[in-house]
Amino acid sequence: MEGSGARDAISGSWPDSATHHKLRTRDDWKPFVKKNATSCYHPGGTCKMGKATDPLAVLDERLRVRGVKGLRVADTSVMPTLNQGHTQMAAYAIGERCAEIVKQGA
Ligand SMILES: Cc1cc2nc3c(=O)[nH]c(=O)nc-3n(C[C@H](O)[C@H](O)[C@H](O)COP(=O)(O)OP(=O)(O)OC[C@H]3O[C@@H](n4cnc5c(N)ncnc54)[C@H](O)[C@@H]3O)c2cc1C
Repeated sequence: MEGSGARDAISGSWPDSATHHKLRTRDDWKPFVKKNATSCYHPGGTCKMGKATDPLAVLDERLRVRGVKGLRVADTSVMPTLNQGHTQMAAYAIGERCAEIVKQGA
């Protein structure tokens, strides 16, 4: 009986309906990624911190919103790029770092 149940059900590495393993070039992959990529409940980076020369950097290096006085952001939105793991600890670290910055008074 060993394996007899699955022998005819498994015909390759991927289900017959899957096609992504046939994609080769970057242009092949783009529509697939656009359709299927998710944040896996870890959205971030919508309000990124960065250098003044970066036109997409909403925040300076002390989490201050450029052009707005007295406003800081301290959550996962500040991350310049989304990390590849879970984001909760990163959120805590960002919050703690912001508290230190505020205590320093700058
Ligand atoms: C289903 C799910 C499962 C997850 N599992 C894990 C896990 O296992 N491990 C892990 O590390 N991470 C996990 N995460 C991710 C983690 O929860 C988040 O990365 C983290 O909570 C982000 O913290 P944050 O402070 O950036 O944002 P949030 O926790 O989303 O906090 C944002 C806060 O801002 C408030 N807010 C929004 N708009 C306004 C406004 N206009 N005015 C005032 N307040 C506002 C919201 O009410 C909210 O309280 C999970 C997330 C989800 C959704």
